Amino acid sequence: VLADAPACLEREELSFIMIKPDGVQRGLISDIIARFERKGYKLVGIKVLVPTQALAAKHYAEHDGKPFFPKLVNFLSSGPVVAMVWEGKSVVKYGRTMIGATNPLASPPGTIRGDYGIDTGRNIIHGSDSVESAQREIALWFKAEELADYTPSTAAWVYE
Ligand code: GDP
Ligand code: MG
Repeated sequence: VLADAPACLEREELSFIMIKPDGVQRGLISDIIARFERKGYKLVGIKVLVPTQALAAKHYAEHDGKPFFPKLVNFLSSGPVVAMVWEGKSVVKYGRTMIGATNPLASPPGTIRGDYGIDTGRNIIHGSDSVESAQREIALWFKAEELADYTPSTAAWVYE
């Protein structure tokens, strides 16, 4: 296998995935991590923290000025979140597919929000919506040295 190393040895796409305070309080950390892990994605960064209001506002800067913005920022900084960086082919787009729609009631069963949520303001999880957003969000939440670069021994069983 090592002699015939697959293309996945190079850095693949990265996405910023965050379990929000409701997901943490509801005991969904292990389930959410397991979904990404079983898919074949690789965890390269993870931390638990209570975001400051300033960090929450920067993270959601695109929504500044919308009616739900103050509630959103208050909620995100109301308790611990699990901030993660996942790596793999198309992890941004497919991660969003796994997460589902913004409104959990419009999100089909099988998606994280569809399986576990009801209200839009309690939708469990965040995932980057583009590769550019992912780069911005990862730089906001992580230092470069907090991201691991490694090749799982299973890589050749996930990538052709
Ligand atoms: P996402 O990318 O699917 O998370 O959705 P958006 O980027 O549009 O919104 C960011 C977050 O703001 C969502 O995940 C929701 O938690 C919250 N949000 C978005 N729209 C609304 C809304 O109309 N009302 C409320 N209360 N929250 C909202
Ligand atoms: Mg968004």
